[in-house]
Amino acid sequence: MDHWGNAVAESFVKGMKCRVCGKSYPVSPNNFCTDDFGPLEMDYDYESIREAISRSKIEMRTWNMWRYREFLPLDHEPTVGLHSGGTPLIKATRLGKALGFDDLYLKNDAVNFPTLSFKDRVVAVALSKAKEFGLKTVGCASTGNLANSVAANAAAAGLESYIFVPADLEKAKILGTSIFGAKVYGVHGTYDEVNRLCTQVAFKFGWGFVNINLRPFYAEGSKSMGFEIAEQLGWQTPDQVVSPMAGGALIGKVHKAFQEAYKCGLLNQVPKTRFYGAQATGCNPITDAVKTNRDQHKPVKKPNTICKSLAIGDPADGFFAAKLIRDSGGWGEDVSDEEIREGMIELAEYEGVFAETAGGTTVAVARNLLQQGKLSPHGKTVLLITGNGLKTQEAIMNNIEPPTHIAATLDAFEAVHVQNQEFPSLVKNTNKGNLLGV
Ligand SMILES: *Cc1c(COP(=O)(O)O)cnc(C)c1O
Ligand SMILES: [Zn+2]
Repeated sequence: MDHWGNAVAESFVKGMKCRVCGKSYPVSPNNFCTDDFGPLEMDYDYESIREAISRSKIEMRTWNMWRYREFLPLDHEPTVGLHSGGTPLIKATRLGKALGFDDLYLKNDAVNFPTLSFKDRVVAVALSKAKEFGLKTVGCASTGNLANSVAANAAAAGLESYIFVPADLEKAKILGTSIFGAKVYGVHGTYDEVNRLCTQVAFKFGWGFVNINLRPFYAEGSKSMGFEIAEQLGWQTPDQVVSPMAGGALIGKVHKAFQEAYKCGLLNQVPKTRFYGAQATGCNPITDAVKTNRDQHKPVKKPNTICKSLAIGDPADGFFAAKLIRDSGGWGEDVSDEEIREGMIELAEYEGVFAETAGGTTVAVARNLLQQGKLSPHGKTVLLITGNGLKTQEAIMNNIEPPTHIAATLDAFEAVHVQNQEFPSLVKNTNKGNLLGV
């Protein structure tokens, strides 16, 4: 029995495989092929998974990401991040109507446990695997959310953590890392420079960096978001998914989850989901590659956007993300900081969801692609909301009306109440004036 009394599952991992040349590797804390430096990916025995699981078996399990554990690369029961995943899929009727979608949903990982972003899924897998490898020290290069999640989960697991972030990160993302006792380094440089430093540290010190030498395990955690969406839609896949992209892994892993769910008998219909990628114009290597029809992205040297969580100039999975978007019949788009702020406010005012800048980016891109006719207004459309707005307050602080200060009397309230009715929306300073037009 595991932590929740579920029957203990066995491992279905065959090994690791190069995504470029297909060469097989034994399972180890390593992320690249020694022949061509191609990224390594987990390789599973799908026949056995198909025999081992069924919808009803999964449905009896606890509602968190580990109900899909046969598809995750652990040899034993998870030991880190036991409560991650299992987030709501919200039917977004009001936002759908405002944007022009018939059947819109939000997969809300802004309320993931324990650190309020989808990174809790990838870290749960990476650190459980790190413990299987016997690693005592872990770390990451991060644009913020990964830092929070590695620090929190490492603390709870009794692991030492070294976290490297660009020095200009949002305050809440730094605080939300340091609080857990992690060793935090604010590096003077871009994320890509931070990542290069971490690669050197990981191999020199033999530590487990979740998104570097543990990346093949880490990335698989994102699949759980895809499995959950399919199950929450009644074991169906949506027609369209809009995903924010940083390193470009999440979008591909949601696609992979849909394919695996079908392959292993959880879905009746072949998934035909079109994938749409969202970035900020201030750091748009992947959407630029899609729009200019290039296979290989051009790295963005100096990212400049309020959407720091997505600001990876040279994304590790950029090539695969652009290819998936094209092959699935989707598209990519990027939006300005002003549009990102509007997206955040729309999400909040229409659905009561306070998402971070990446959520605003996803909403704004969905609006834009619908207007371009690239996204269809019909069919099931899911927006991936990946992080929490309380962590990126500085991005919209100046766009939100401060509270009206009044004396503690009914007269005082009534006097300002009449005035305030002339300004019913909280939104100001947007390029549309009264953004929501109410
Ligand atoms: C990391 C991150 C992403 C993107 O994930 P990738 O797999 O690197 O593309 C999206 N949203 C948020 C909030 C993130 O922190
Ligand atoms: Zn190879």
